[in-house]
Amino acid sequence: MGYENTPAVEAAVEHFKNLLCDQLERCDKMAADKDKVDFAKMPEIRIGICGGDGIGPIISKEAERLLHFMLEDDVAAGKIKFVDIDGLTIENRLACGKAIPDDVLALLKTCPVILKGPTTTPTGGTMESANVAMRRELDLYANVRPVCVPSEGIDWIFYRENTEGEYVLGSKGIEVPDKLAFDFKVTTDLGTKRIVRAAFEYAKNNGKTNVAIVTKANIMKKTDGKFSKIAHEIAAEYPGIEAEEWFIDIMTANLINTEKRSKFQVVVLPNLYGDIITDEAAQIQGGVGTAGSANIGDHYAMFEAIHGSAPRMIERGDGAYANPASMFKATEMLLRHIGYSDKADILAKAMNICLETEKKVVITGRKDGASCEEFGNYVMETVKSLEK
Ligand code: NAD
Repeated sequence: MGYENTPAVEAAVEHFKNLLCDQLERCDKMAADKDKVDFAKMPEIRIGICGGDGIGPIISKEAERLLHFMLEDDVAAGKIKFVDIDGLTIENRLACGKAIPDDVLALLKTCPVILKGPTTTPTGGTMESANVAMRRELDLYANVRPVCVPSEGIDWIFYRENTEGEYVLGSKGIEVPDKLAFDFKVTTDLGTKRIVRAAFEYAKNNGKTNVAIVTKANIMKKTDGKFSKIAHEIAAEYPGIEAEEWFIDIMTANLINTEKRSKFQVVVLPNLYGDIITDEAAQIQGGVGTAGSANIGDHYAMFEAIHGSAPRMIERGDGAYANPASMFKATEMLLRHIGYSDKADILAKAMNICLETEKKVVITGRKDGASCEEFGNYVMETVKSLEK
């Protein structure tokens, strides 16, 4: 039996047509947007603080306390302003039926810099992830995730494309009940160019000599094929930097290959692969609780932990013992991004002392370890001693 004129196929074709038009319009918007904010030169910096869900409010409060402590003088002088953004909770999002309620989005848009606690995403249904929505709404196209294990010679930085791939239409798939489901993956020329250029610019400005371009272009021929082709075209503009092509499966294995992994420096890759492989990389560093993440666009930047809201920790009553280290690493990236590199260096040193070399206060994520606040105090005391 032919399906061509059945209501399910006609509805799906109409749905696809609308998606395609939306994505073409997004391409036009990207092409028209030529401005770029220099975050380090803003006369006043509004930092929005979103607690999020689960352990989010606990660890982000600690990160906010750290920021207040480190930027005390500029907060007093009015150069830095903190803005509480309370409404990005799963309860409020479900009640409004929106991944980001309108009033929350309006407030977010008044803050070029955002520090965000993890947010819960319901499995199934049509509620989009607040993170995915925020990355799209604020066009935060570069998800930058550093992973560093000096004792193993590991110093990686991942540039994950953050607004396209499987995520941009992740809640807009098609389903024919009891028969099949389709999701879509989108790769655009401009979306690829900007993330690849960000990775190569980072390499050039930080003395890096190798950029790994990671795709599955042998299978995903159109989308990853485009990503790979454009990445190599851009690489040709950076003659001192070696561009290496890897497929995501072998790259995943390489990260645990102790003979190979220390050669990787900068890694640029599409959205889903970047999401998965950076958790693996963070695990090599000591777990997802140890890694920070920056979501950078030309107008906004959002900083967060790479882990989720850990609802089971809250259910167990262990929320106060959540590890804020990943939020502190995100805070370090935030400081660097807004022009406080010296303070970011001090915080990086303090984190290394607290987590690696001295470890006077140990956090386990359970009641047998230090609390989030105790660890925060320890980091601040260490920062203070380094500032002297
Ligand atoms: P998760 O990262 O929240 O937690 C997994 C486990 O890791 C926890 O049970 C806990 O044992 C441990 N853990 C994570 N962070 C910790 C911390 N700071 N201190 C101590 N232990 C920590 O992963 P999940 O359970 O898969 O996801 C929970 C929710 O978070 C989901 O709704 C998911 O969609 C969401 N999520 C949000 C983000 C984000 O907002 N950026 C990222 C990932 C997942």
